[in-house]
Amino acid sequence: MILILFGPPGAGKGTQAAFIAEKFDIPHLSTGAILRNKLLEKDSLSIKLMETMNTGNLVSDEILNKIIADRLKSSDCNNGFILDGYPRTISQKDFLIDFLDSVNLFIDAIIDLKIDKKNIIERIKSRLKKENRDDDQKDIIMTRIEKYDKETKPLSDYFKKNYTKNYHTVNGNQDIEKIHKDILKLLEK
Ligand code: AMP
Repeated sequence: MILILFGPPGAGKGTQAAFIAEKFDIPHLSTGAILRNKLLEKDSLSIKLMETMNTGNLVSDEILNKIIADRLKSSDCNNGFILDGYPRTISQKDFLIDFLDSVNLFIDAIIDLKIDKKNIIERIKSRLKKENRDDDQKDIIMTRIEKYDKETKPLSDYFKKNYTKNYHTVNGNQDIEKIHKDILKLLEK
């Protein structure tokens, strides 16, 4: 099963992706987590990445597409995978679809978590606090939301239009358990 968990920052994609990955025994591919791991390498790339990520900006498509292509080629992805945080731009979406086409795979489901802006702001705020990043909070949040609206949200319309049967929305304002139940209901149909 190939799944995309889509939605704005703070929608709970990571939490839900982890649940689903365990339930269906498929790897959870979080590009945010992969990038955060790269930061630990402390080389010239990681310094560049840190600057981009700490300001709420998006890392380049070139880096992301390479990360994903490498990851999808590993054998643990043979039975499917769940993408969390990718694709985030039109160019990443094009890359992913071409890549899947080339190996005769298709996306089984796109789950679009819809959440009100005030809840997005609250959730990112509390996450930044947990990560001890109180500085520049407001700027980071605003940049992340801006990037989502401009670069990522248009993909939602694309999926809705081109993947009519596989595209589903779920109310992300609900509590974690209820969101989980709603997603499972869709996947087990
Ligand atoms: P996340 O944990 O998914 O919120 O990602 C944390 C940060 O990693 C984002 O704010 C971006 O800077 C970067 N990032 C993660 N995934 C992507 C992606 N698909 N494209 C560009 N940047 C990304």
